[in-house]
Amino acid sequence: MTKVLYAIASLVAVVAVLATIVYNTAAGQDAILDRALKAQFSQPPVAVDGLRVVVCGSASPLGNNPDRAQACIAVLTPEHFFLFDVGAGSPSRLGQARLPMGRLDGVFLTHFHSDHIAGLPDVRLASWVQGRKQNLAVYGPPGINTVIDGFNLAYSLDNGYRVAHHGSELLPPAAGVMKAELFQPGEIAWQDELMTVTSIEVDHSPISPAVAYRIDYRGRSVVISGDTVATPGLFAAAQGADLLLHDALSRPLLDPMIAVATELNVPVIPTIMTDVIDYHADSQNLEARTAEAGIKQLAYYHLVPAPPNALAEKIFARGLSPETILVHDLQTFDLPANSTEIFISDR
Ligand SMILES: [Zn+2]
Ligand SMILES: [Zn+2]
Repeated sequence: MTKVLYAIASLVAVVAVLATIVYNTAAGQDAILDRALKAQFSQPPVAVDGLRVVVCGSASPLGNNPDRAQACIAVLTPEHFFLFDVGAGSPSRLGQARLPMGRLDGVFLTHFHSDHIAGLPDVRLASWVQGRKQNLAVYGPPGINTVIDGFNLAYSLDNGYRVAHHGSELLPPAAGVMKAELFQPGEIAWQDELMTVTSIEVDHSPISPAVAYRIDYRGRSVVISGDTVATPGLFAAAQGADLLLHDALSRPLLDPMIAVATELNVPVIPTIMTDVIDYHADSQNLEARTAEAGIKQLAYYHLVPAPPNALAEKIFARGLSPETILVHDLQTFDLPANSTEIFISDR
């Protein structure tokens, strides 16, 4: 027995010494770097023949959590790739998920709060340098022209620098510019023979307009709420959907934050945290409506506040069914075409 323990200890020591040598020598470092770069630059194919939904941001602006970017949902099919909101931090998540930015077809915005649009310039750049050749289409309700005109003006110098530096053959100047695509709430925002993106008017008052989106593709469907209270119109439009990603506010997590901030006389924050209660959906108000609408899977994103750790997630989920998912950044939902299966994976 002593001999066996001695052998195991010796083996562990040898492995530790070898790892230290690899980590601290130029040759060892270069070998590790080579492996990491090959993993980074190899693009995994879209394996699913239906809808793939990737969470590229699950946070609201409330709460600090470096593991959660602000609102962003990626939807991929074999033919298309769209983003739904691109909050701060989400461009990094898109890189981590190794999504095929060069074939990005467009971005849909639910409304124009900063936590839904701040990532637009970096998404424009990432998709441009990875091969997108046309304007980046950005779809939204009235207000979209103001947002896109502003970004285009702010980044006009940046566009010029990059074209001058790398050449217009590599970086076509038109592709550095975003193009506003306006629709009215409730209208079909985009459609081809296989896929339909329908906008749904929601209630994020006093912010208006605000829309959710329903995406239908080969017998599968996903609804993305954006920011809203529990809205009958959303559940009517989401009838029978496979997956509902809904924003959610947790009173069990938010109320103690308000109480402590008030007790410690933190300026402004207690009032802001109280103001948000009436324009996001209370996490307790959605499960029954989801079941009534025949929606198969409810998942919460745009978490208010964004839980910073596992304990906070437990508090956030208090009172919820174990079937309801609190999503994580990079979580992926695969919905094969003409099926009822949903495969969920973390990366
Ligand atoms: Zn909002
Ligand atoms: Zn928001």
